[in-house]
Amino acid sequence: MATIESRPAINVGDMVYAWTTEDKIAKKAECGGAVTGLLKYALSNKMVDAVLAIKKGQDIYDAVPTIITNPEELADTAGSLHCGTVLLAKVAQKFQESSPGRKLAVTVKGCDLMALHEIAKRDGVDLSKLLLIGVNCGGTVSPVKARSMIQDVYQINPDIVHKEEIDKGQFIIEYEGGHKGISIDELEEEGYGRRSNCRRCLYKVPRQADLACGNWGVIGEKAGKATFVEVCSGKGAELLQKAVKSGVIATAPADPKGIEIRKKVEGAMVKLGQKWRKKDFTSLKTDLWNKIAEETSRCIKCYSCIENCPVCMPVSGNGADTKSLMVEPGALPPSPMFHMRRFAHISDSCVNCGQCEELCAMDIPLALFSHAIRSEADTAFEPKLGRPDYSN
Ligand code: FAD
Ligand code: SF4
Ligand code: SF4
Repeated sequence: MATIESRPAINVGDMVYAWTTEDKIAKKAECGGAVTGLLKYALSNKMVDAVLAIKKGQDIYDAVPTIITNPEELADTAGSLHCGTVLLAKVAQKFQESSPGRKLAVTVKGCDLMALHEIAKRDGVDLSKLLLIGVNCGGTVSPVKARSMIQDVYQINPDIVHKEEIDKGQFIIEYEGGHKGISIDELEEEGYGRRSNCRRCLYKVPRQADLACGNWGVIGEKAGKATFVEVCSGKGAELLQKAVKSGVIATAPADPKGIEIRKKVEGAMVKLGQKWRKKDFTSLKTDLWNKIAEETSRCIKCYSCIENCPVCMPVSGNGADTKSLMVEPGALPPSPMFHMRRFAHISDSCVNCGQCEELCAMDIPLALFSHAIRSEADTAFEPKLGRPDYSN
């Protein structure tokens, strides 16, 4: 085994298997615990002032965004919550607004990253003060839907489920007295499974982060016990190198066959996302405006979709409240223009994070409309970017 001093330097583009050397983290972690081990190293060694990650709350349906400043508390955030549909981008923005200049490490999925970049374009966040630890993402399941899916399809009381995982294409639950797995394809055919925006998502490996971490591609004796880490930036390389040197993270070269498998799975997931886009958008093609008018006629104007969108930032001018200018005051449901203005405003930048739809009090498929408009605009106006054409 190579001594620490004789280890080769870690560079951008490297792919390694990595795992924590701390038992407390390893026990709770999703696979190798590299993510939590790296976050803890960064916080303990003052590379950052705080960490933003997700912690399990009351149960597996309750994902709680948490700011941590005590490294000993980081083990509480280990493990993946697939019913955690929260977007951390706006929380990171709020952290920077309230603590200017302080450095924050954040665990990010693809949609968090895209949202952070859109917020940065609007000067809402300083990316240089963020350390971004990416996690691959096959998708999340809405907690409300997950409960009814477990009740109706698994025929198990959702309250007794204490663990869930996604493995080999199955959503698996563990409960008092047993466990049960059903293929995600099957669940989705029955109208359950991942959120519809996640099905259409093509950003599976978050390479705009400093490190992209996941379980795809970990094979052989390390399967389930190591994290596959792709080094995506100099900052990421420095963090991994230092953590390995200090002994809190151990690594081994990624198996070339594992690298190949990961590439194939990523490709298959992107194709599946394209298939879902085609399916969802084709049904809207001839009737988008009528569908928007029909669905939004349930709107109670709670403003949740506006408040939670990472891209929509209405700014007030001359002291006026922009929201009140959006549509005739007091009218319910509001005119479809209440929604059309937002769709138009974000048509070049909707990141398909799904927050508008997930948090809509009236279950209006807002992300579907907004994503369809964004994709249509990309296809029509930016074909040079080589984006796939979903229009036929
Ligand atoms: P840990 O040390 O256990 O740390 C996990 C980190 O993830 C913690 O920082 C925690 O706060 C954070 N986290 C937990 N739940 C969420 C959430 N809902 N949203 C944001 N952050 C969260 N890897 C793949 O290779 N393929 C996949 O299809 C895939 N799908 C995933 C779907 C979801 C919703 C999540 C959260 C992760 C997914 N991953 C996927 C990544 C994988 O599950 C592990 O997170 C990754 O391999 C790191 O493992 P670890 O043991 O180092 O992480
Ligand atoms: Fe994951 Fe994409 Fe869904 Fe975000 S939109 S939770 S990155 S699948
Ligand atoms: Fe209307 Fe739903 Fe938006 Fe609330 S979240 S304003 S109900 S569309």
